[in-house]
Amino acid sequence: MREKLTFFVRRLPIKWKLMLGAAALIFLLFSTYNYAQYLVLKHWMMNQEKDKIQVNMAQLQDYFQEKSNRTDAFPVADSRLYIEKLMGKNQLVRILGKEGEILLTVTNHFDESWIPPKSVSVSELFDITHLEDHILVYRSPIVTAQMVGTIEVASNLETFDHFSQTLLWVMLIGGVLAVFISGISGLALAKQFMRPIRRLASTIRSVKEKGLTARVSKIENGDELANLAQLFNELMNQLETSFLQQKQFVEDASHELRTPITILEGHLSLLHRWGKSEPDVLDESLQASLQEVRRLKGIVQELITLTRVESNSLSENVEPIEIEPIIHETAKRCEVLHPDFEFIESTQSLKDVRLSISPLHLEQIMLIILDNAVKYSANNKRIEIEAVRLRNDVQVSVKDHGIGIPVADLPYVFDRFYRVNKARNREIAGTGLGLAIAKQFVHNYRGVMTIASEENIGTKVTISFPIHPNIE
Ligand code: ADP
Repeated sequence: MREKLTFFVRRLPIKWKLMLGAAALIFLLFSTYNYAQYLVLKHWMMNQEKDKIQVNMAQLQDYFQEKSNRTDAFPVADSRLYIEKLMGKNQLVRILGKEGEILLTVTNHFDESWIPPKSVSVSELFDITHLEDHILVYRSPIVTAQMVGTIEVASNLETFDHFSQTLLWVMLIGGVLAVFISGISGLALAKQFMRPIRRLASTIRSVKEKGLTARVSKIENGDELANLAQLFNELMNQLETSFLQQKQFVEDASHELRTPITILEGHLSLLHRWGKSEPDVLDESLQASLQEVRRLKGIVQELITLTRVESNSLSENVEPIEIEPIIHETAKRCEVLHPDFEFIESTQSLKDVRLSISPLHLEQIMLIILDNAVKYSANNKRIEIEAVRLRNDVQVSVKDHGIGIPVADLPYVFDRFYRVNKARNREIAGTGLGLAIAKQFVHNYRGVMTIASEENIGTKVTISFPIHPNIE
């Protein structure tokens, strides 16, 4: 049963949960408060009634004492007039003799059979219920010069009962009304509260149906729900941007791959048609095809590297290494490959500087930059490698005196597949991925990569990495 109830409550919409909660809470508070108030009032009223009956008794006692002192013989029956004046509505006064015999009974809207006569030696005050009536009884012994007996005073608490019943009803109706009103206002509040959540839910639904462009409209400023909607919109913006970037990347990659494949296809069909009989065509086409296959292999390899670098966002916990020897060795390797170039190194300030970077990654970054410097140098074959150590970071720059990059192209050279003036670069091998890969590597080590260039004067590529104070 309890499990069923929990299951039922759990499945209720938040709106109803809030309404039920508010109503239950108000009901609990209201009924506790009202009941306590009712008890206190009832107690107070009962005391009031008791006081009244005690005053009556005291007056009767005084009256009889006085009469017996003043007159020699005073028949009890003579006091009827006085008692009738004294008593209120719904009351009984009975005087009993020594043996409990009834000497006088005065009633006002009170049936004397409700209370059996009883003489007492000690006063007693109590309330009893007779059928539907609630009766307060006070018995007290009386001893005067002329008589010994008991005075009985009884009061039917009809007014009191009537009043307390009305009070109970008023409180009950008030309670029901309060629960009803709190339920309705809880529902209204919950509706108001749920509006932004419902809007968020419908946006999420439309994202599911229509795609990433949906956003939560009309965000009212202020509370946590508005912040949530704002956060959702920002998240969707980011998702959309990265989704578009991915799409662009796939488009660019397919485009780049298509060109060598088309050329390859052309050469192969040429070979198929003429190559078997003409050795010249055979040789030339094979050479060209091989070149395109190498190019394809290069693009695929670089694409794999780029995706790998991008997915390993931050490279932490790498053993700190001295970077100067790595830069030097990379420059030496380039020198062996391109003996016609002159590599001028000034990296002394890096002596003993240690960075948390993988040597393989640093080598890869340097190779990309040096390779570009070689590729895009024209007649001036001097390449300067300079390193400076600043307060919080190290900077390594590679400067060439080659063809440079036009100002208009500079902002895009780090984009994937971007090559300045493809016609200009046709003879120079390249995929347009090198700088994008290098920048991502540098970024992964919290570094910064910049490029400065002037057309026909030269290019300077600078990378800088922060030095951790505890390393060195
Ligand atoms: P690529 O494989 O074409 O060299 P990169 O991403 O390494 O691809 O470079 C992007 C483009 O930036 C190159 O195509 C080239 O036009 C330009 N570039 C890069 N480095 C230099 C440089 N040192 N001098 C002149 N142009 C450069």
